Amino acid sequence: MKIAVLKERATGETRVALTPETAKKFIALGADVAVEAGAGEHASIADAAYSDAGASVGTADQVVKDAGIVLGVQAPDPALLQGAKPDAKVAATFDPFKQGERIDAYAKAGLEALSMEFMPRITRAQSMDVLSSQSNLSGYKAVIAAADQYGRAFPMMMTAAGTVQAARVFVMGVGVAGLQAIATAKRLGAQVSATDVRSATREQIESLGAKAIFVEEGGIEGEGTGGYASEMSDEYKAAQAKLVSEHIAKQDIVITTALIPGRPAPRLISDEQIASMKPGSVIFDIAVPQGGNVEGAVADELVDRHGVTIMGYANTPAQLAPDASALFARNLYNFLSAFWDEEAGGPVLDEEIGDAVRLTKGGQVVNARLLDGG
Ligand code: NAD
Repeated sequence: MKIAVLKERATGETRVALTPETAKKFIALGADVAVEAGAGEHASIADAAYSDAGASVGTADQVVKDAGIVLGVQAPDPALLQGAKPDAKVAATFDPFKQGERIDAYAKAGLEALSMEFMPRITRAQSMDVLSSQSNLSGYKAVIAAADQYGRAFPMMMTAAGTVQAARVFVMGVGVAGLQAIATAKRLGAQVSATDVRSATREQIESLGAKAIFVEEGGIEGEGTGGYASEMSDEYKAAQAKLVSEHIAKQDIVITTALIPGRPAPRLISDEQIASMKPGSVIFDIAVPQGGNVEGAVADELVDRHGVTIMGYANTPAQLAPDASALFARNLYNFLSAFWDEEAGGPVLDEEIGDAVRLTKGGQVVNARLLDGG
């Protein structure tokens, strides 16, 4: 079985889907591994490190030729995969709800697209979950970037010249990214509070030593399936907006991370609420690529509204390329190796995980979530 890894071609994508560590592990399973020259450059991995691990390094055409598996961070254009085996498996992120055309092109090419975003949220698949591994780093990076942008210190400092007050940090959306944001802000010495629509997060917020801010009226109703949030009712949204308005005016830094799978990110902060914040405050919107939680947020730009800076990256994990690549590559290895079948010389996926992640096979779009529109 030949495994191919191309250089990522999307703008701003610095990560790579294979590291020398995972190359070695795939080779130990009996696979041949081929990497396009320069694939690891932005993640500080030299071609020689791949060669030393036993992989071959070559041009895109050489690498793809006869590959049975292609790994990517973002799924490559199927036109690049013409030399691969006709039914090759491609494991990568596909942005399935937005990239319909690309998925159709994968189907047309006969490729088996395996979307890492559709990994089910079950215990056994935790080590294969790229959304978790990348969100974790995003939560960390958002706090670091916001702290850097914020013109004041995070921790309380008692000095001979007087006391510097601790920064107040408010985290909205306490999934994987939010939990890491809370932990990071705490480590930097901030006073941290957080909110979510899932009641399970209250205990998690408190266990990290932060204050939980929750809509009490009418109860919490945001529990969706599989650990995800669902869309909220208008009444709930109004109660949440009121609560946020009261709280946000006292905050120095706000980190927003709220997502609902298959939908645009929920709007959590309006321009009016931004106007109530102190000048010099910073809002980091991790959800910018999914439409943003914050009114006026623009990816990769520092937006000034009422003296408050709004920021967010188009691709947050790409800002930490070596770590993000290492975790992403391990997720892919954990996924494929869990199903590796010596006789078949490659992975044989089971129903629970295989059917969840498989978008296309045998010339068709086959994924239930795509076929019933989410
Ligand atoms: P996510 O990225 O989909 O969303 C981020 C957070 O935003 C979630 O906590 C969500 O509840 C919250 N949110 C949505 N709408 C909101 C709103 N209007 N206001 C405030 N908050 C809002 O979530 P995620 O980080 O992927 O994780 C969600 C949960 O799934 C977590 O509890 C996580 O531990 C769990 N999880 C389990 C597994 C597994 O078992 N394999 C893997 C990954 C995540």
